[in-house]
Formats: sequence, structure tokens, C-alpha cells
Amino acid sequence: MKNEIQNVVIIGGGMAGLSAGLYNARANLSPLVIAGSPPGGQLMLTSEVENFPGQEQIMGSQLVETLRKQVGNFGGIIKNENVLDVDFSGEVLKIKTSSGEIQTKAVIIATGARALWMGLESETRLRGKGISACATCDGFFFKNKIVAVIGGGDSALEEAIFLTKFASKVFLIHRRDSFRASKIMQKKALENPKVEVIYNAQVEDVLGQNVVEGIRLNITNPEGKLETKDILLQGIFVAIGHKPDTDIFAGKVQMDAKGYILTSGTIAVQYAKESKVEGLKSKVDINEFDFNWQTMTSVQGVFGAGDCVDHIYKQASTASGMGVASALDAERWLESKT
Ligand code: NAP
Repeated sequence: MKNEIQNVVIIGGGMAGLSAGLYNARANLSPLVIAGSPPGGQLMLTSEVENFPGQEQIMGSQLVETLRKQVGNFGGIIKNENVLDVDFSGEVLKIKTSSGEIQTKAVIIATGARALWMGLESETRLRGKGISACATCDGFFFKNKIVAVIGGGDSALEEAIFLTKFASKVFLIHRRDSFRASKIMQKKALENPKVEVIYNAQVEDVLGQNVVEGIRLNITNPEGKLETKDILLQGIFVAIGHKPDTDIFAGKVQMDAKGYILTSGTIAVQYAKESKVEGLKSKVDINEFDFNWQTMTSVQGVFGAGDCVDHIYKQASTASGMGVASALDAERWLESKT
């Protein structure tokens, strides 16, 4: 494989990467998916998925496994290894993995993102057993239950508001005395009768052996004294941010300040928004983007898809859809070069 130039190499083996692999395989491009180790992306950390269109209920790992099989059925190759470095400076794109160097005409970056966690042992143990990082995915399982959301940004407040559709009560637990979230989101959350805010609270522990039974907080009271408080509840949603897995692409393709990969599509939306609302302020070299291809990054032939690009929708189905779009862009871009 070393001297052979691939048509397309997909970096990432979650929903975006595998969906791209499926479409490129069916287009006879024999894509190589470098799926990471361990492979599968964020879905491997969830249990049942009930919101993937067309699947009433499926385990996250089963969805990934089926998609891997589909990629293979059409001639795609999947390698469970990690990319160590990339060189996008020439027309032939180079990717270094633990087993050697791969050369390719096109690349799809689909390395995903990971939810940030608080770092408690009990939190790790009870993940999927009452602890979640996605209210859209798991909120439905908490009908008439008491839940808590941890965080003070837009995600936390949005999740708290969303969860009031199901839960009987939502505690919003924030480590400081003021929120980072937008004023409009704060107004909505604070006006919701089901939401009770606890400020100046650090989570000390999650209570429960096999399922979540409560939460232990260290709260700084108005006199500045620390009080410990246990709250009995059944669900905890950690919404303290995400980190895209894009460190190896720093300096190789343009990214935003948080490390999300910029594509023509996302940069177009950002520019339109900024020029209308706030005036242009992006530190982006727009001339490097080719607006003929919505999923193309600032490098010709390098595309981006899924949660490493998208910090807004973050769903298995939207990642899958972006993967498909990037595969179609890559296929058509390759055709345009012949
Ligand atoms: P974020 O803005 O980075 O907020 C993270 C929150 O978690 C902060 O309040 C932070 O506290 C808290 N936090 C961080 N580490 C913590 C820890 N170890 N323990 C307890 N709390 C911790 O992240 P986000 O809310 O996911 O939002 C990400 C981006 O997406 C933002 O730009 C946001 O505006 C945007 N977004 C927009 C919408 C919308 O407009 N509808 C919805 C969701 C997200 P501190 O405040 O003390 O730092």
C-alpha cells in the first residue's frame, strides 16, 4: 500500500467517517477508513439510540458495527489505527499512521469530538446508567424523574430547558454565581418553573452503586462557608463543553479558536452572520476556501465532516449526513480533476 496513491482516505471511524466510507465505497473509490483505536466514536459510549431515523431502538455499538460491515460490503477498507501526523503541503496528501505513510488524492477529516467530563470516579462508573452528556439523546428516558444539569454555558441551560419536557424537576448546578450563557437563554431557564438553580456548587460525588441515586454538592453559601448537600435524583447531564479531536491538524487546515475544523459551509455562515450582526472579526483567511465545495476545508482536496466541524447539532444522524455530503464532495472534486 505504501507507494500506491489512494483516491480517498477518511480519518475517523465514527458515524461521519463510516457514512463517508459507505458512499465513497459505493462510488467505487475503494476508500481507506483509518478508524482510530479504539474505533467507533462517541456512539460506543452510549447505550440505546432511539433517535436515529429509521431505527426504533438500537445499541450505539450495533449501529457502528452495522455501518462498518456496510463499508466493507462495497469494498471499503477499515483500519483500526491512529493517524500520527499529516502533510497537506503538496498535491499528493500524506498521512502518517503507526504502520507507515499513506499517500492519497483526497482526505476526509471526521475525527469527531469528545464531551468533557468532571473527572469523578463515580461519574465514569455510572456513565450510561443515569449519567449522560446529551439531553437530546437521553432526555426521553427521564420522564417524571428528577435530574440535574451541570454547567453554566449555553449548552447547560439549553439542556435544562429541554429536559423540563420530560423531567418533573431539573436542578441546574453551576460552579460560579453567574452564567456564561447568553442573556436570552438565561431568561428562558430562570423563568421555567421546573428549573431550580444552585450557584457556587461543585459536584463532590455522584451517589449510587449501579445507577444514579443522587448527587453530593459542596456549596459555598453567601457567608463564604462551604456546605455539603445531598440531593436525591435519577439523572445527571454533564454539559461542561466538548473538545474536537483535531490536535494533529493544527497549522495544517484552518480551525476556529476552539479547534473546530472550518469548511466553506461553516465559514460562509459565520461570515454572513458576522457581517450582518457584529461586523467582520474572524481571523480567517477566506481566500483559502473554495466555495464550490461546502465540506471542503482551507486545503484543496481535504474535506471535513461530523462533530470535528459541527459544534451545533452534534447528533449521530447529522454527523452521518455530513459524512455523506463530504463523500459526495470528495467524489465530485476528484472527478473535476480528471
Ligand atoms: P461553554 O460555553 O464552554 O460552557 C461550559 C460551562 O461549563 C461553563 O459555564 C463552565 O463554567 C462550566 N464548566 C467547565 N468545566 C467545568 C467543570 N470541570 N466543572 C463544572 N463546570 C464546568 O460550553 P457550551 O455550553 O457547551 O457551549 C459551547 C459553545 O457553543 C459556546 O460558544 C456556546 O455559546 C455555543 N452554544 C450555543 C447554543 C445556542 O446558541 N443555542 C447552544 C449550545 C452551545 P465557567 O462558566 O465557570 O467557566
